[in-house]
Amino acid sequence: MIEFQHVFKSYGQGRSILADISFKVSAGEFVYVAGPSGAGKSTLLKLIGGLEPASRGSIQVNGQRLENLSPRARPYLRRAVGVILQDTHLLYDRSVMDNVLLPLAVTGLASGVSRARARAALEKVGLSAKENAPPIELSGGEQQRLAIARAIVNRPAILIADEPTASLDRETARRIMAVFKDFNRVGVTTVIASHDDELMAEYATRAFKIDPGRFADSAERRAPTHNN
Ligand code: ADP
Ligand code: ADP
Repeated sequence: MIEFQHVFKSYGQGRSILADISFKVSAGEFVYVAGPSGAGKSTLLKLIGGLEPASRGSIQVNGQRLENLSPRARPYLRRAVGVILQDTHLLYDRSVMDNVLLPLAVTGLASGVSRARARAALEKVGLSAKENAPPIELSGGEQQRLAIARAIVNRPAILIADEPTASLDRETARRIMAVFKDFNRVGVTTVIASHDDELMAEYATRAFKIDPGRFADSAERRAPTHNN
C-alpha cells in the first residue's frame, strides 16, 4: 500500500531530514511514527500524502509512483490519501457541513449525493448534531473529529494524521484514537505521527521511530537477526 525505497528528503539546500529510508506498509496496517520534535515525522507524512516531493529514492502509494505522477493522476492520489495535518485548515467562516463538503466539490458528484456522503462522514465521527454550527463553536476534540470527517469523506484507502491528539485531554484523545481505529477496522491503512508512545501502543500494530538521522521499524526488530 505504501512503499519507500532508499528515500532521502532535504528542504532546499539543507541537510537531509530523512536519509535512506526504506519500508513497506501493507493494506490495513496501523502504523505510528514516533520521534522527538524536529525529527522529521511531519515530513514523512507529507511525503506519503504527496504534499512534498522526495529529494531522492522512490515512493509508491496505492499503486502509484509519486516521483513521476502525472498531473492527471494527482487527483486520484488526493482521493486515495486522507490527510489530517497539525494545522487542521478548517474554514471558520463556513458551517461544519460545508467544511466536509469541500473535498467533494471537485469530484463532480450531484449535490444530493455529496450531502449524503458528508452526513455519513459526520455521523461516523459523531458530529451529526453539529452539522450547521460554525467550527469555532466546536471544542478541540470536535474540531479534530471534523478534520477526520473531511479527510475520510472521499473514502480514502489510506489515512495519515499528524499529532491528532496533541493538546487534547486523555479522555478526548482516546475518543479520537477510537475513531481512527474504527476506520482501520474496516480496512483503511492508517499512519499517525505522535509523541504519545503510551497511547499509540494501545492502537498501533507497528511503530516507526525517527531519531535525527536514524530510522527504526518495530516490524524489523521482530524479524530474526543474524550475527556473523
Ligand atoms: P517533526 O514532525 O518530527 O517535528 P518535521 O518533519 O516537522 O519534524 O521537521 C523536520 C525538520 O525539517 C525540522 O528541522 C524542520 O525545521 C525542517 N523543516 C520542516 N519543514 C520544512 C520546510 N518547509 N522548509 C525547511 N525546513 C523544514
Ligand atoms: P497548496 O496548493 O496551497 O500547496 P495543496 O493543494 O497542497 O495546497 O493543499 C490544499 C489543501 O488540501 C490543504 O489544506 C491540504 O492539507 C489539503 N490536502 C492536500 N492533499 C490532501 C489529501 N490527499 N487529502 C486530504 N487533504 C489534502
